[in-house]
Amino acid sequence: MKNNQIFIIDTSAILSGKPINIEEGELITTNSIKNEIKPGGRDYRVFQFLIQKGLKFFSPTKNAVEHIINISKKTGDYGRLSKVDIEIISLSYDLSQDTSKEIIIISDDYSIQNVANYLKIKIQNFNQEIITKRFKWISRCKGCGKKFKENINTCPICGSEIKRIVIKKEKLG
Ligand SMILES: [Zn+2]
Repeated sequence: MKNNQIFIIDTSAILSGKPINIEEGELITTNSIKNEIKPGGRDYRVFQFLIQKGLKFFSPTKNAVEHIINISKKTGDYGRLSKVDIEIISLSYDLSQDTSKEIIIISDDYSIQNVANYLKIKIQNFNQEIITKRFKWISRCKGCGKKFKENINTCPICGSEIKRIVIKKEKLG
């Protein structure tokens, strides 16, 4: 049994209601997640269960949040991440400074996974698979097909809708 693992769970992991194996380490999330789960119902019961099992709440440092915002803009994920998503990654980044601990984010969110991979923080989705590829997003116009690095919604050339696409998948070694 490893007891140096820290699992950081996001809202989707809690709301999935799927069992999370927390026998092997600490379970942590951000304080702001409390605002996303309303009292009553199944989600709340799962949440209460995790708290009973020892789920702890922390807030990321300001520096980490700034760093993660910059990184996610670089990877093209910024527009796809909620405030809580940013905090989850930032908190993971803070905790990963302690190299005696193994930090693992549990999330099915594609953009969280992408930024975590960029930071070399481990990710587990609910099927326990470790994501081994890194993705780079770009914007492509649905009309004229022109590609843009920025995260924009409307093509400045033809006015069509812009779609976000994955252009690069690189294996992480
Ligand atoms: Zn266009």
